[in-house]
Amino acid sequence: MYQGHQARKRFGQNFLVSPGVIRKIIDAVAPRPGDTVVEIGPGLGALTEPLLERLDHLHVVEIDRDLIACLRERFPAERLTIHEGDALEFDFGALKSDGPLKIVGNLPYNISSPLLFHLAEYADLVSEMHFMLQKEVVDRMVAAPGGDYGRLSVMLQYRYSMERLFIVPPGSFNPAPKVDSAVVRMIPRKVGAGETALDETLFARLVQAAFSQRRKMLRNTLKEFGGESLLEAQGIAPTARAETLAVADFVRLANVLAAQTQTK
Ligand code: SAM
Repeated sequence: MYQGHQARKRFGQNFLVSPGVIRKIIDAVAPRPGDTVVEIGPGLGALTEPLLERLDHLHVVEIDRDLIACLRERFPAERLTIHEGDALEFDFGALKSDGPLKIVGNLPYNISSPLLFHLAEYADLVSEMHFMLQKEVVDRMVAAPGGDYGRLSVMLQYRYSMERLFIVPPGSFNPAPKVDSAVVRMIPRKVGAGETALDETLFARLVQAAFSQRRKMLRNTLKEFGGESLLEAQGIAPTARAETLAVADFVRLANVLAAQTQTK
């Protein structure tokens, strides 16, 4: 029990209780009065309250009805707009007329990857995002080619510049998770000409296939896309593995394929 609320595992509820960590997150977000900020999963308000101290108004997206009832009691509706429901289905585009969005959250870890992919669809509307996630996930997000580098790294680094800001130990939460967490800053990249995937669905499919079996050579995982001949034509060794390719290499391969389908 924490503040009279039984934490629900299915909603990934680990409430922040460390004033030092809360302060560091708010300082990193650096909210200013006119900003349009959306908090995902406000829970018992550990971040909501200090955010509202610096903002005129805040949007939150929360799925747990009991927590929503607490938030309604605690914060006036003209300062806190509560969007009741699943953040995975929330249309962040509905807030675009309010200006560029700053999105913040100590995210439910059980849905972190699908949520990051959902948010990527709105990257054009966002100025920056700050999230608490499992440290292991943040390490994969920011990884350079090699060890932790994978589909999540490529797909997110294509859209964002990302920085791991600091590590947060389990004792900063109630209940304490089993693993370390970390706070990441994500800023949508201004992608230059030649760096944009012409067909983003094709780019995503290619990246997924390349990492489908990490240990396998690209000539095998990318067979359906032309395998060896595609790779050789782009000066990439067919025996290479996905984890050695830069984000720009995946974009280049996807764009060659996109151009081929267009001329067919
Ligand atoms: N922000 C609070 C804090 O730092 O103490 C709570 C963080 S807790 C890790 C995650 C929060 O996300 C919970 O309030 C949970 O109910 C909410 N949540 C879980 N799944 C959600 C979903 N699909 N959509 C919106 N909120 C969700």
